[in-house]
Amino acid sequence: MLTAVVGINWGDEGKGRMVDLLSAEYDVICRYQGGNNAGHTVVNDRGKFILNLLPSGILRDNTVNVMGNGMVIDIEHLCGEIAGLKEKGVKITPETLKISDKAFISMPWHKQQDILEEERLADRKYGSTRRGIAPVYGDKYMKKGIRMGDLLFKDTLRDKIASILEWKNLILKGYGQEFSLEFIMHWVEEFSRSLLPFITDTTEYLLGAVRENKNILFEAQLGALRDIDFGIYPYTTSSQTLAAYAPIGAGIPGARLDHVVGIMKAYSSCVGEGPFTAELFGEEASKLREAGAEYGAATGRPRRVGAFDIPASRYGVQMQGAKELALTKLDVLSYMDRIPVCVAYETDGVRTDKFPTGDMLLRAKPVIEYVEGFKTDISKCRIPGDLPEAALKYIRFIEEAVNCPIRYVSVGPNREDYIEM
Ligand code: GDP
Repeated sequence: MLTAVVGINWGDEGKGRMVDLLSAEYDVICRYQGGNNAGHTVVNDRGKFILNLLPSGILRDNTVNVMGNGMVIDIEHLCGEIAGLKEKGVKITPETLKISDKAFISMPWHKQQDILEEERLADRKYGSTRRGIAPVYGDKYMKKGIRMGDLLFKDTLRDKIASILEWKNLILKGYGQEFSLEFIMHWVEEFSRSLLPFITDTTEYLLGAVRENKNILFEAQLGALRDIDFGIYPYTTSSQTLAAYAPIGAGIPGARLDHVVGIMKAYSSCVGEGPFTAELFGEEASKLREAGAEYGAATGRPRRVGAFDIPASRYGVQMQGAKELALTKLDVLSYMDRIPVCVAYETDGVRTDKFPTGDMLLRAKPVIEYVEGFKTDISKCRIPGDLPEAALKYIRFIEEAVNCPIRYVSVGPNREDYIEM
């Protein structure tokens, strides 16, 4: 069985914890896009982990974890992440972790370019995590990338890097921030040494896994509304976050998904800049931010928070082709007397159920309605019958509005804090 676990909204929906839960039934877990701008938080019996690059299945001993060709990898960051997990007793070997030879390396100049560009944009900035993600994907399509597999060919690596660096320095010179070849080669040498045994042809491995009918789970980073093509461009990420891309970014483009599980939060949150129609402000926002601990896992930035957004979530469900949903963090709403929901948008005085993109989205105003709050601690609920009627009503209301069944409801950050509906 091939399953994608993907985000329905702007990211931070709680995908990491759902992958951690669902991965029990899977043999192989693949990350298929993005880089260390991701921050998946997983809390289980071994402690609390924040994973940026490694697939969340790395925390289970019986899974093989693949970092696919669709990813961009900062090797310095990856070395640190692996070392941190090993310190906590997580087993990471070439048998449990396989890094695609076709994944692109996020080089020091990518991070530098990301920072310089955000500074140039100043108050028009995109809200990048400044980890070099957009520049490395840009260079991939410019065919000026260095791939993980290049690290295996020492005799040609230096020349390849020298040529790209010469090109890159033409831009960085304008800022007085060129890199020397010696610095870059030293960086590459230092942070590639321990990774070499993990680099492999992951396509060959995954084709074998499909032949053997292994269960494969594809883990997305960010959500549908951040997809480079179908999201809120240019406030998107620079890769494809949609389930349809999962087999390609993982390395088996000919394979077909059997199942798509969408992860959707019981309210909205959005890191960085860009249109966020259902946004709440003032005290209403700070209460929700505190209740949901909405601070970026990768950056610590306070997240913008908002009401559950029906037009955006319905669109997210459609773009992902989700067959069922996990509604996360329902417990966070326990303090509310009444729960705000964005039921439609109004653009230029016209009400619409559609999620607009482009400049139309910038003009959209939320139409907010309130539903009854449940006003009880639901974090110990484990079966639907434990939930108060008002919480069940909220779940059914959302399910109908986005037109997709909600199978799981999470009521706390720990692995077992969930209800199967
Ligand atoms: P991801 O990037 O989609 O994996 O999401 P993040 O890890 O950035 O954000 C999810 C955050 O919510 C993490 O801190 C989780 O520990 C936490 N979390 C996940 N599910 C629940 C839940 O049901 N209730 C509460 N209170 N916290 C949750």
